[in-house]
Amino acid sequence: MFYLVGVDLGGTKIATALTDTDCQILKYETVRTEASRGADAIVDQMIDEIRRLTDGLPKESILGIGVACAGLIEPGTGKVLYSPNLNWRDLPLKDMIARKLNYPVYVGNDVNMAALGELHYGAGIGKKHMICVFVGTGIGGGIVIDGHLYEGANGFAGEIGHATIDWDGPDCPGGNAGCWEGFASGTAMQRRALEALDRGETSMLREMLRGDPGKMRVELIAEAAAKGDALSQRLIDETGELLGAGCANLVNILNPERILMGGGVIRGVPELVDRVEAVIQRRALKDAAAAVEVVRARFGREAGVIGAAVLVKLAGKP
Ligand SMILES: [Zn+2]
Repeated sequence: MFYLVGVDLGGTKIATALTDTDCQILKYETVRTEASRGADAIVDQMIDEIRRLTDGLPKESILGIGVACAGLIEPGTGKVLYSPNLNWRDLPLKDMIARKLNYPVYVGNDVNMAALGELHYGAGIGKKHMICVFVGTGIGGGIVIDGHLYEGANGFAGEIGHATIDWDGPDCPGGNAGCWEGFASGTAMQRRALEALDRGETSMLREMLRGDPGKMRVELIAEAAAKGDALSQRLIDETGELLGAGCANLVNILNPERILMGGGVIRGVPELVDRVEAVIQRRALKDAAAAVEVVRARFGREAGVIGAAVLVKLAGKP
């Protein structure tokens, strides 16, 4: 029996999985990222987790370690060029891990790895032209062209959340203004809910928050909407329209056969998937719209570790 290891390294948690060679999870663990202790400490945390999960297995049965990392990863070298979540620049992550563990190590961007997992084992199996749209605190994307993940000139392809949808819109930390994720992400949804409450709108959200705006969550909005709260229903309608408008742009540009939607906002409000599909049918060019279906991603929080395991598996193939 052979095994793969997939690690999902984020700013708040490190998830580690041992999988079989079909990328099925056999063991899964998460720990909090000790982000304030710096890169060496975080790499040590990862290595402890990997050792724990592979304990007792013959060394030659481990085919390699894949790491899905939040940030811009240099293809080939496994160097983290920039990770805002971890506050890293030019960190040779692959070499740091490989130096301490004598296995082949592969590093990729977390969102791209999630797309890779969906393409090979999830809701994208057999699809040649697909766009994965992950809606959470931001909006991340993975673009599949001719059956392969498209990385672009220097590995930065798929940053769909920073597409401009309002030339005069709010500033984005990335330097642009009016980015899609500034309107349609979970963060944006929560912000708009709080703004409406500040304006004095009537809503059961006010009581649900019990005076603490920090408790605003997409799940709370979904719960209130289900109970008939007009503000929450409007926020979901608007988010559906905003997500759909952005996806219609993607449909016009790339003519995908499938748009796959995942991330915390879609898990919290699954009906957004159908709404997005309806908006695409209304807004995108007719023949491009006719070719596309919108579906939910198969994997949830485990998407990153599965994709990282897929990266190891693909690396072993010619
Ligand atoms: Zn942006």
